[in-house]
Amino acid sequence: METLRMETLRARLEKVRAEIDAAARQAGRAPETIRLMVVTKTHPTETVAAVLAAGARLLGENYAEEAVAKITALNAPQAEWHMIGHVQSRKADLAAQHFQAVESLDSLKLATRLQRFSAEAGRILPVFLECNVSGEASKFGYPAQTASQRDALFREVEQILLFPNLQIRGLMTMPPFFDDPQKARPYFAALRALRDALRQRFPQADWRELSMGTSADFPVAVQEGATLVRVGTAILGARPPKNE
Ligand SMILES: *Cc1c(COP(=O)(O)O)cnc(C)c1O
Repeated sequence: METLRMETLRARLEKVRAEIDAAARQAGRAPETIRLMVVTKTHPTETVAAVLAAGARLLGENYAEEAVAKITALNAPQAEWHMIGHVQSRKADLAAQHFQAVESLDSLKLATRLQRFSAEAGRILPVFLECNVSGEASKFGYPAQTASQRDALFREVEQILLFPNLQIRGLMTMPPFFDDPQKARPYFAALRALRDALRQRFPQADWRELSMGTSADFPVAVQEGATLVRVGTAILGARPPKNE
């Protein structure tokens, strides 16, 4: 049973990886410039252990306490954990202490707290700015649809760049869900354009990362410039419900 599960996970990882590589080649990009994150939110520690054993290295989690329990239990030095869910202010200490990167930075208030706890922990924390390029109200992230929203974002970036213990690496987005992945393409292109504008305005910072694309649409995201795709269901199957 355990062996079968492992074989299944290995086969799915390989299949997703092959689709990433094919999409990269279609777009004239080097496949090795795109990383695959396995999103493990709500999956039990044993499942995360199995996917690590099957060869996954980069893992994404959404809920700070649940993630910290798994990170601590697994104690896997080969794993790299990214926080990809909304971080409540009072959980900023967990995010700053236990993750190799926070991809869901979406306010100066959170940045201020991540800076404080990263400094206390004596570490530099890589961060991605989560941007909402669709205007969909239910999504987290810096609104970045209109010129005035982008101006406000640029002003916050100026402040975040002053924090010595935070290191910007790029942008993350979660577009609306569509049955047709092609419909997500304009949002991926919009995130890339926003990244290019930030790079021009703040050339001293590192803007290399574009974290975009999920099980529903990662090949399209790769065609539009993703450097990191976040895939859960296509590798782990349906998610167990979240324990409240
Ligand atoms: C859950 C989640 C994913 C993965 O979604 P799947 O559809 O399971 O691939 C990616 N990114 C974020 C921010 C998520 O919350």
